[in-house]
Amino acid sequence: MTATSRPSPAATPRGDAARRAGKRVLLAAPRGYCAGVDRAVIAVEKALEQYGSPVYVRHEIVHNKYVVKTLEKKGAIFVDETAEVPEGSIVMFSAHGVAPVVHQEAAERKLATIDATCPLVTKVHKEAVRFANEDYDILLIGHEGHEEVIGTSGEAPDHITLVDGPKDVANVEVRDDSKVVWLSQTTLSVDETMETVDALKERFPKLISPPSDDICYATQNRQIAVKQMGADADLVIVVGSKNSSNSVRLVEVALGAGAGAAHLVDGAEEIDESWLDGVSTVGVTSGASVPEVLVEGVLEWLAQRGFEDVEIVKAAEESITFSLPKELRRDLRAEAAALAEKA
Ligand code: SF4
Repeated sequence: MTATSRPSPAATPRGDAARRAGKRVLLAAPRGYCAGVDRAVIAVEKALEQYGSPVYVRHEIVHNKYVVKTLEKKGAIFVDETAEVPEGSIVMFSAHGVAPVVHQEAAERKLATIDATCPLVTKVHKEAVRFANEDYDILLIGHEGHEEVIGTSGEAPDHITLVDGPKDVANVEVRDDSKVVWLSQTTLSVDETMETVDALKERFPKLISPPSDDICYATQNRQIAVKQMGADADLVIVVGSKNSSNSVRLVEVALGAGAGAAHLVDGAEEIDESWLDGVSTVGVTSGASVPEVLVEGVLEWLAQRGFEDVEIVKAAEESITFSLPKELRRDLRAEAAALAEKA
């Protein structure tokens, strides 16, 4: 752990009293935006600059209310289905990925598409296609109805069976138990997924594993940081939206690690004053789709209540970045070349 102190109002009598009372915040690192979310949000912003408003986005570009509202104000229009996008318009696919049928629908409507699917989700899609081509039964561990699961399942619907946790394992049926592989959603709890895998292996001893982790680096790092702080925290506040799978998992991981309580909030305005009753150590983290400004709001809220001392709980360094979607890069390059020619 490395310790930092927030500046003001440490010198106030209330601040001194707070320190004497031992109030502190454990702030997880890493937290917030992952490389896939950063890329997707910048992609919408760049698309608006490049093509002008509106740019249609199929589903929430990332699962965060604040991000979606901010992009709406800039001119993005979020739709549930491709059919809602006027013919000939520009539509962006979200970081969670889409099934091939959605690409076909867009082509039929003559839409210009920008695919902001996170490259780590695309990796799982490719694994699904490869194992389906080799005629494996694929057991996809994930949450029913989640957009990423719908997109991945759509790559090989005849070969994929969804397994939504250990409770589903008893009902799984396969054609040939010597040819079964498991894959997973990228944003699951690592521990719960391994529980499901262990249960699957008991039923199918020849079950093979994906060539590399499907649960992404960002999900894993955020969970490790929360585990490190969980046992020391009377309360953990996870900043994230209710439909954000990785944020919901952080609440579960915090509780599993021994936190006295853990709550998911979209921002400081959702924190209940009573959660602080009898609390001296508050853990703070945020899901992979959460901009840092929302965490700053929570830290400010806590500081106003005497929780001014902040210690960073560092689990990993992250330096991964992804380049913008190829359609956007192509158009940005073309415009730069046209401008250079004119000059
Ligand atoms: S959480 Fe992981 S898989 Fe999802 S967008 Fe971020 S980096 Fe990609």
